[in-house]
Amino acid sequence: MKRNFMFQILAAFILAIIVGIIFGERATIIQPLGDLFLRLIKFIIVPLILSTIVVGVTNAGSIKKIGNLGGKAIGYFLVTSFIAIALGLFAGFVFQPGAGVDLAVQGEAVDASETEGVIATLLNIIPTNPVEALTTGAVLQIIFFAIFLGIGISLVGKKALPVQQFFEGLSEVMYKITSIVMKLVPLGIFGLLAPIVGTYGPSVLMPLIKVIIAMVVAVIVHVSLVYSAAVKTFGKMNPYHFFKGIFPAASVAFATCSSSGTLPVTMKNTQENLGVSKGTSSFVLPLGATINMDGTAIYQGIAVMFIAQYFGVELTMAQILIVALMGTLASIGAAGVPGAGLIMLTMVLTAVNLPLEGIALIAGIDRILDMLRTSVNIIGDASACVVVEGGKPEMAVKKGA
Ligand code: ASP
Repeated sequence: MKRNFMFQILAAFILAIIVGIIFGERATIIQPLGDLFLRLIKFIIVPLILSTIVVGVTNAGSIKKIGNLGGKAIGYFLVTSFIAIALGLFAGFVFQPGAGVDLAVQGEAVDASETEGVIATLLNIIPTNPVEALTTGAVLQIIFFAIFLGIGISLVGKKALPVQQFFEGLSEVMYKITSIVMKLVPLGIFGLLAPIVGTYGPSVLMPLIKVIIAMVVAVIVHVSLVYSAAVKTFGKMNPYHFFKGIFPAASVAFATCSSSGTLPVTMKNTQENLGVSKGTSSFVLPLGATINMDGTAIYQGIAVMFIAQYFGVELTMAQILIVALMGTLASIGAAGVPGAGLIMLTMVLTAVNLPLEGIALIAGIDRILDMLRTSVNIIGDASACVVVEGGKPEMAVKKGA
């Protein structure tokens, strides 16, 4: 995110509050601007999920063939991502950032009681007609279809190359369209937030501070418990040495909000400071920068809890399970660029029928949350290298150094 863009977001945020306070309920006149933005986000979702997940799975499939290394790394990625989202949900539960506001959502009332129980919900993930899933926008079914397509493409190999290339092309196009739509984020924030502030008063914004606090606490817990334990147990490395070694890359991630952009620094730190071999780091880190995002997973958990509480929606156990699953997938699908986690949040919200309006609220503080999650994302990638390498002699040399 360019500085100019950050400034626009901030300006939109402040302007929305001012307009909301001054004009009160009359601020709802600009609601169409917000709706315009929401419609644009919604129209991206289906092709974006389909193409990015197919591409993600086909890439992981070919990488797996590289063998043990890929298997170990992907296993580690999945376990830590799942812990991260669970932690995020837990933090959202403990801190209750959105509690006590209880906005009635116009037009998009959510009926949590509709869920038919865990087994039926899980069975329902399998579409009987994938085309219907695409046309009705059934996110979970689309994901199921995409994963299977990806596996099929990997298994068929050469003959499926045109299909693979089609999805690769489509995903690039969808990323491009997304980045165009993202330019309208300031407009969306303004159009959605001003009517909310106008109708309910500025106190509706207080919970955002709680979101940041919940995120900071969850991030500290994840980094200090999960990564410390992992590098110590599997990598035989002193956690202090690990954090000190990766600190420069984590700072760059904090400032740039981009795992991909930080990749060269992450590589340098893991090789030079942590003593990880070139072979491991040049394979695990690019893969990790694309599919391993624990910080993003924590964020999905907290954001969903926040939005559910904010709009007074009680999530059922089945829905929480879906969020855990979807949040993990969202963190896998998110690109290592600023704001990607926010876009993927639309997918998780849609899957459990939560109002996308929540995005406008959280978008105002997204940059701060992005700094935190991107740092965690790259620390997680580095920890994967140390774990996969598992106490090789070169690392011992570095440890002594
Ligand atoms: N900015 C994050 C990253 O690059 C992705 C996200 O937005 O969650 O890792």
